Amino acid sequence: MEAKYKSIFVARVSVRTAVMHAVIRLTGLASYSENDVDCRRPLQLLHFGEKFDSGNWGNKCDNCSKIKTLVEKDVTESANQLLC
Ligand SMILES: [Zn+2]
Repeated sequence: MEAKYKSIFVARVSVRTAVMHAVIRLTGLASYSENDVDCRRPLQLLHFGEKFDSGNWGNKCDNCSKIKTLVEKDVTESANQLLC
């Protein structure tokens, strides 16, 4: 392979790799943003390579705040009606 074609090939591979990494990062960001269940604190610490200490769990993120407002309800009868 000629040198100029080799450099074009390397450049294309580099761009393709950069795009793939950007898509992976964007997918992770979208997943984090759409996650309305898990506490954000361990997710953030994991992202930055830190350990999560459950003793310092402040329960102050938006997802943890929502959990406090959840109401437990027995829906067994309604579920059985749907199945029959
Ligand atoms: Zn939380």
